[in-house]
Amino acid sequence: MKVLVINCGSSSLKFQLIDSESERCLAKGLCERIGIGGSMITYAPEGGEKENTVTPMEDHTEAIRLVLEALTNPKTGVVKSLEEIGAVGHRVVHGGEKFAQSVVIDDAVLAAVVECNDLAPLHNPANLIGIDACKKLMPGTPMVGVFDTAFHQTMPEEAYMYGLPYEYYQKYKVRRYGFHGTSHSYVSRRAAQVLGKEYEDVKIIVCHLGNGASISAVKNGKCVDTSMGLTPLEGLIMGTRSGDIDPAIMEFLAKKENMGIEDIMNVLNKKSGVLGLSDNLSSDFRDLEAGYHKGDANAIRALKTFCYRVAKYIGAYVAAMNGADVICFTAGVGENAPIVRNFVCEYLGYLGVELDQDANHKRGEDIVITTPDSRTTVMVIPTNEELAIARETVRLVN
Ligand code: AMP
Repeated sequence: MKVLVINCGSSSLKFQLIDSESERCLAKGLCERIGIGGSMITYAPEGGEKENTVTPMEDHTEAIRLVLEALTNPKTGVVKSLEEIGAVGHRVVHGGEKFAQSVVIDDAVLAAVVECNDLAPLHNPANLIGIDACKKLMPGTPMVGVFDTAFHQTMPEEAYMYGLPYEYYQKYKVRRYGFHGTSHSYVSRRAAQVLGKEYEDVKIIVCHLGNGASISAVKNGKCVDTSMGLTPLEGLIMGTRSGDIDPAIMEFLAKKENMGIEDIMNVLNKKSGVLGLSDNLSSDFRDLEAGYHKGDANAIRALKTFCYRVAKYIGAYVAAMNGADVICFTAGVGENAPIVRNFVCEYLGYLGVELDQDANHKRGEDIVITTPDSRTTVMVIPTNEELAIARETVRLVN
């Protein structure tokens, strides 16, 4: 079956058409600046040239219409007609406590997703717009929602509750949800598979280190803890997000800098992380690595603080699972920055981690980067959220 995977943001839309039998990506692309002028669609068929076309896109329906037109284009398209597309898989960011699994989308599901909008006001409404647009243009095609939060719904109460008055959980469901669940699930399963182990028999820590970063503890095939919380702001230090801080810093800064809550949230989401720590040098780890090699104090501070936080969470999750067999690195930084893996693993002597430096410098493959004698196995597993969404979609539609 050919599955269209849609990841819809407020002004952008990423897509891939995946053939579920061969698991090949037949075409992929991106619509940008939807509804804000200067819109552009990028389209790349498998093995073909990437095309960028500047074209008006008033809304997401128009963007999806252009995507479908590109996929069926007689010259550069990859299907003859839309009938060849058997299903659509949508990434949905927040499923609250309602969705512990992916689901076939119907009216009841849509209503339940709307109820989660409060928990992800920037993301869920955009995801819903994408679903709505696909329903209009492909009315008979089954659609599946795959939630970023679903994989983490197996966490026990002690891992997901905050030390706050219980009434806020009862009234508003304030708790840890966690994100990047599709990636944590895909990478942990793949690690067990590559090692030839039963997923239900291993303790795995997944470090998803991208522009957004989170870490999870997966024990015997179930997530038992993860670093992001009610929102994706908690946990690791990220590209521009602060991760964990003393909550009293908010009041302190509000008074000192005469800022309101929205200003503070803007600082924590957009001006912090390695960007803020490096005194605005960059949120991109390629720049930080270059700065590190030149001895730039801002780059060194940002990299070291980022890696220390990752190592600290690994320690916490070793405790949560009473051990760890495998530690996986994934996403933009986790897959591409050997320096980050080196710094993190320097803290892991107590786990008997011994890195194989040749393997640590390879790129783009599922690989073990520790020596055969290493007591704990460390791996790099490139994440593939689109493939994971396509697999879920096929499983549910069938
Ligand atoms: P993601 O959010 O998973 O797409 O990751 C994006 C981030 O990965 C970028 O902001 C960079 O910081 C980082 N990244 C991408 N390529 C490299 C690379 N070759 N070396 C170091 N970091 C990289």
